Amino acid sequence: CSASLQMGGDLEHRSAHGMPGRMSDPVLLWFRQDLRLADQAALGAAVQEGPVIPLYVLDDQAPRQWKMGGASRWWLHHSLRSLDDDLRKKGSRLVLRQGNCVDQIVQIAEETGARRVHALHHYEPWWRNAEKALGKRLDLCLHDGALLLPPGAVRTGGGNSYRIYTPFARAVMDHMPPAEPVRAPSRIDAPGQWPKGDSLDRWGLLPTAPDWAAAFSRDWTPGEAGARANVAAFLDEAADYDRARNLPSREGSSRLSPHLHFGEVSPAQVWRQVAGAPGNATTFLKELIWRDYAHTQIWAMPAYGSENARPAFDAMPWRDLREAGVDFTAWKTGRTGYPIVDAGMRQLWTTGWMHNRVRMIAASFLIKHLLIDWRHGARWFWDTLVDASYANNSVNWQWVAGSGVDANIFSRIMAPLTQSEKFEAADYIRKWVPELAHLNDDVIHDPEAHDARPADYPAKCIDHREGRERALAAWRRISHDC
Ligand code: FAD
Repeated sequence: CSASLQMGGDLEHRSAHGMPGRMSDPVLLWFRQDLRLADQAALGAAVQEGPVIPLYVLDDQAPRQWKMGGASRWWLHHSLRSLDDDLRKKGSRLVLRQGNCVDQIVQIAEETGARRVHALHHYEPWWRNAEKALGKRLDLCLHDGALLLPPGAVRTGGGNSYRIYTPFARAVMDHMPPAEPVRAPSRIDAPGQWPKGDSLDRWGLLPTAPDWAAAFSRDWTPGEAGARANVAAFLDEAADYDRARNLPSREGSSRLSPHLHFGEVSPAQVWRQVAGAPGNATTFLKELIWRDYAHTQIWAMPAYGSENARPAFDAMPWRDLREAGVDFTAWKTGRTGYPIVDAGMRQLWTTGWMHNRVRMIAASFLIKHLLIDWRHGARWFWDTLVDASYANNSVNWQWVAGSGVDANIFSRIMAPLTQSEKFEAADYIRKWVPELAHLNDDVIHDPEAHDARPADYPAKCIDHREGRERALAAWRRISHDC
């Protein structure tokens, strides 16, 4: 993006295409996963240059398997509505378009005389392709702010990007705290004429028949104000995060993941506020760095969501879904006979979110006990999570599978029943598996073993030991290459 020049008292800039722009020409502000007005560097730069046309393009140009999932669409609908309301309070509005984002943005530029586009950098492969293509046709100014530090900002002594989380986190910590977040501008100048836009309701982002998201709004308030409220609520709990985050029965983590994914709050804002709260925030801040780490991995290996980062896993003898389909369905619908797994999968379906400890247990159960390829699980999460993130989802699934760049070794197999007891999940199970709500703490983790399984709750779809041995046998087939 070209630098601004002060000429004859009038602020002018020269675009990459040699066309001088004048102060009164509108500039485009392209929103993607950064649906906020505060600490939004692209907005901050755009308002300096003249009237702003904020726009969002619903673009299904991501490869078909990464088309935005159903739960994310629900979130997006409400977040866009909230962003438009916030923009209107500042004298602006959100223009909506649908189609190929590059073509749509170029078309709006032609309609309005805008030559420059401001946006935040995003690192999903399809966004990087779109940025490259748009940069060839318009003057595209990309700003940082989706992460604590842009990928590649910290490097190993050899100049490479980090592959292992711990040294990466240490290096990021050396650059923290992030810069003081910037306030939202008090006004955003409107263009003389607004380009035509779509109606949000016509996009059909919300489910109708059936409305499987009916309960989502009890748990979530998408949008910048909702994100702010969530951060504020978490500050009271942050001191106990270290212990409470692992206990599914407690709301011990921040539940900020969808807000962070859609960029309704910046990681810098979260960092600053939580680091300033009473208590030691180190564990939480390190989790936030996992998000940067995951994005660094997809930046270095764009196919992380569909290819094993360790090629030895290509030879893993996963069960074919034609044979394992019944087990896969039991997992998706929360009817495996393992209460902790079922509670997690039902929480996911009902609320669009699952507790982190339970995500690990449920993912491990699918991959190891059921010997089903991690990619099938990742795609189910992609469709059902409100925080579905190409980076976080892919990197965490590959971490659990052992196929990731930095990963848990495959042969370390989580015992779901032991985990359930250890992390005191009894109340969590009672909440999400009502068939078991009458059971005491000492039997609820494994009712079958105590002859306490009610008739309406399924028997275990596989015995723990049998699943473990089958997984280890599969592992032995590839372990010499790992
Ligand atoms: P907190 O514990 O409060 O953490 C604060 C923030 O740090 C989170 O909001 C998130 O942005 C980040 N964070 C925390 N843990 C991780 C992690 N392990 N990796 C990357 N970032 C992290 N997270 C997603 O945001 N989207 C996903 O699609 C996703 N898929 C996952 C799939 C599997 C199989 C597993 C095991 C984990 C996945 N996670 C994903 C990571 C993690 O479970 C969630 O970020 C976390 O549960 C969100 O809850 P929270 O906001 O209360 O987290």
